[in-house]
Amino acid sequence: MLHRQPELSFQEHQTCRFIQSQLAEMGISSTVLAGTGLVAHIGAGERCVALRADIDALPIQEESGVPFSSERQGIMHACGHDAHTAMLLGAARILQQCVWRHGAQALGGVVKLIFQPGEEMSPGGASLLIKEGVLEATGEASVPEVIFGQHVNPDAATGTVAFVSGTMMASTDELFWTIRGASGHAAQPHRTADPVLMAAHLVTTLQSLVSRALNPLHSGVLSITRIQGGTATNVIPETVEMSGTLRSMNQEWREWAIDTIAEHSQRICSSPLFASRADSSVQGACEFQRSKGYPPLVNNPQATEFARQAAAHLLGAKCVEEFEPKMWGEDFAFYTHHIPGTFWMLGVRPPELNHMPGLHNARFTIDEKALSIGTALLVHVALERLGTLSVLM
Ligand SMILES: [Zn+2]
Ligand SMILES: [Zn+2]
Repeated sequence: MLHRQPELSFQEHQTCRFIQSQLAEMGISSTVLAGTGLVAHIGAGERCVALRADIDALPIQEESGVPFSSERQGIMHACGHDAHTAMLLGAARILQQCVWRHGAQALGGVVKLIFQPGEEMSPGGASLLIKEGVLEATGEASVPEVIFGQHVNPDAATGTVAFVSGTMMASTDELFWTIRGASGHAAQPHRTADPVLMAAHLVTTLQSLVSRALNPLHSGVLSITRIQGGTATNVIPETVEMSGTLRSMNQEWREWAIDTIAEHSQRICSSPLFASRADSSVQGACEFQRSKGYPPLVNNPQATEFARQAAAHLLGAKCVEEFEPKMWGEDFAFYTHHIPGTFWMLGVRPPELNHMPGLHNARFTIDEKALSIGTALLVHVALERLGTLSVLM
């Protein structure tokens, strides 16, 4: 059902109802947060550990060819969030069975399940859930002492799990420019203020932020990915629009870069070099807007070491790997800026294959054998953290 009926970010109404009914069948009550998110609690006690799965899909037409392909035109679970949801539901079932068998206190605390909407879309479902109090103490649970999350990784073999201690993914900001000039005949550029030339200068000059104003040992990317202006070969247009993304693993450089981009975009476009010679009051201008995205994802070293050890107990040390940090964004980052947490990557490539289509690819699939591993790992990490694994298993 989850893969066949994908829903876009913040529109996961059917998915939310499905999860709620699955939990209800297990005797677990849940609360809707942020419209399409859900939070539920299993067990009882002073301590609390949170497990998070994201539930949204992407605007991609599925071409995977699997028999349970998306039945929704142009929407697909191409980031594996359906798998994350299924694994957290599986973990809920196992934990609830422990409660049935041994009582609510048996878990040694509360496991908070977070089914989070809108991971793929700014401002990120995590930030909305946090605003609605998902990490706060409630009647059912205290503030979670740690939060764990996982993501499928089609680049790693099934049976493996990979961790990063510290910064794992980048901050993400969307950038938008509207460059205003003065249009005119392409054969008389001196009577225009040419926004195409301004845009060209911006694209090249702004790259010096990364190449010259960032410590080479730190990570940052500026990619200008869309540039649009003009309609004819013989007309200098009035405006050019550009957009792109700024990624960084360093919050301080990120904010400095945004301020610098804003200041220099305006300064470059309004330079006298680009003003009309016929009328020097006709100058270029630039409106710059930033849509603030996710902070860098920083895994707490102790939480990471804990999860790594738990994975080694469950799967064997040979199956536990190091993940190379990526300049991707992931809104799990918001949780880790409030409480300790760690996010690991679960291998989902059939071991006999060398290559699988990547995340966000229309042919993306996973090896379903990995689902039971990810489910077991969530249970294992939660119970080991609460100190009751050996008692219950
Ligand atoms: Zn994604
Ligand atoms: Zn994802």
